[in-house]
Amino acid sequence: MSVTVVGSIAYDRVKTPFGERQRMLGGAATHFALAASFFDEVRLVGPVGEDFTDMDVLRTRGSVVDDVQRVAGGETFFWHGEYGWDLNSRETLETRLGVFETFDPELSEASRGADTLFLANIQPDVQRAVRAQCRASFVAMDSMNLWIETARDSLVQTIGMVDCVILNDAELRQLTAKPNLVSAAREVLAMGPSVVVAKQGEYGAALVTADEFFSLPAYPLETVVDPTGAGDTFAGGFVGWLSGHPGDYRTAMAYGTALASFNVEEFGTERVLRLTREEIEDRVQHLGAITRLPLPV
Ligand code: AMP
Repeated sequence: MSVTVVGSIAYDRVKTPFGERQRMLGGAATHFALAASFFDEVRLVGPVGEDFTDMDVLRTRGSVVDDVQRVAGGETFFWHGEYGWDLNSRETLETRLGVFETFDPELSEASRGADTLFLANIQPDVQRAVRAQCRASFVAMDSMNLWIETARDSLVQTIGMVDCVILNDAELRQLTAKPNLVSAAREVLAMGPSVVVAKQGEYGAALVTADEFFSLPAYPLETVVDPTGAGDTFAGGFVGWLSGHPGDYRTAMAYGTALASFNVEEFGTERVLRLTREEIEDRVQHLGAITRLPLPV
């Protein structure tokens, strides 16, 4: 079994109230792969520039980089963002698509044959081009405000081709122009997918299907240093777990939540790179304990 992921592989410049990094490894596909690789073999798809020096990090926990193309003369995707004092707001100061501007994905046979596909955040046209080549039985996707604003029709087409949409709550509201989260999620379900996950930052995440609603708080942390990649790390835990346990959405939410909580404790990929499976299991157990609801009999 394996999971194919397409999305940005990036260098990020990030400033939070707790420090800054001028150039650290990032990107949606990178964060996803580092998390999902705890559960299944991950195959990354995407271009990098001549300046890319972190192929070994992408290979962490056995991830396969056969479909990561190095483009001669090109520059790796670059993102520059800054967070507000409570880390709930962030401003994008610069995005340079670099090698993604001309990326025309051509997947290897092994990546096409993966059982699970994650279309991490990137232009929705590229997401569809990859979707069309894959035979996966479960396809999930993410996106962001930039594509809602600049490529909405294409994004809605992509949403119509997947089983699961994972977006943050503000993006769901923006996409559907509905102020209520549950009705926004229902409107996205009507576009085709059978599962919608609304990420709510430090407030957790909610899952909506035609006949189910499930919500989990974020893992309670006292120290959050850099939220960059938290959404993709959540998706890596969620989709990675589902790859081996189809339909087990609630446990998948717990793994996504636990993985994301580690990601935000340090800058970029730093914490998840050192993470162990045992540490993940401890947090999943603890999440179970703190969310148990004793009902009156
Ligand atoms: P997250 O914090 O989960 O939303 O993801 C942050 C990651 O998304 C960073 O590592 C960036 O490199 C990447 N990113 C930022 N803007 C874009 C974009 N327009 N397209 C694709 N990836 C992006």
